[in-house]
Amino acid sequence: MAHILITNDDGVFSRGIQALARALDALGAVTVLAPERNWSAAGHPKTMHKPLRIKPVTWPDGRTAYACSGAPSDCVALGLMGALDQGPFDLVVSGINKGYNLGTDVIYSGTVAGGMEAVINGVPAIAVSVGWRRDEETPDYPALLDHAGSIAARLAARLLDDGLPQPTLLNVNVPPGSHQEFRGIEVTRLGKRIYRDVVIAREDPWGRPYYWIGGEMPTGVPEDGSDIGAVEHGRVSVTPLGVDLTCYPCLDVLRNWEL
Ligand code: MN
Repeated sequence: MAHILITNDDGVFSRGIQALARALDALGAVTVLAPERNWSAAGHPKTMHKPLRIKPVTWPDGRTAYACSGAPSDCVALGLMGALDQGPFDLVVSGINKGYNLGTDVIYSGTVAGGMEAVINGVPAIAVSVGWRRDEETPDYPALLDHAGSIAARLAARLLDDGLPQPTLLNVNVPPGSHQEFRGIEVTRLGKRIYRDVVIAREDPWGRPYYWIGGEMPTGVPEDGSDIGAVEHGRVSVTPLGVDLTCYPCLDVLRNWEL
């Protein structure tokens, strides 16, 4: 039987991770180890300067999940190193995140970091995100989560049965809409995100300046073949990601600098 570890970055009680666990139950033994608070856009920490705590919690459906004081990447590291009795794990699935992780979002994303921690340790992973923007723009959010969960289960079954040539993270983004409106899955590369961040500078009650990063939701360039292009056209995007950040076109150029 397959052993699957799931985590997320929205917190152990979020609706997304509960939908994910329900969807994966049919594939094997599912263990939930996820942060006790929201770590969205917190990247890939490895907490080494303070202890990490894990405590069992009970979900509304009666399931026991494990809440951790660390980041998603800490949760996966702890799970794969055997902090729980469950495991060893064949697959790690992270999500379902409330909001896309497209293009360079994957650098900031705690959801993706949870999956990438598995890949670093040689375990395949899936990160799942849905195109939520605001509650009033996503009235069918529970149906969207169930739809994304079924796609995650389909991909998980293939990864467990067939595998890929090397440990890989499948970064999955599901556009809004129910299973009835499903327009297929497209295998994509990372696209180009356009951030519209602004810094808001204010003064605290003691006259000291503070800064707050805000601004509009990011947009992106909807190129064909990219993750941003796929979701723009209503298709589910699946991008295979590895850990190698080397800029290959730069290697020869840099070598010719004769440093
Ligand atoms: Mn999140």
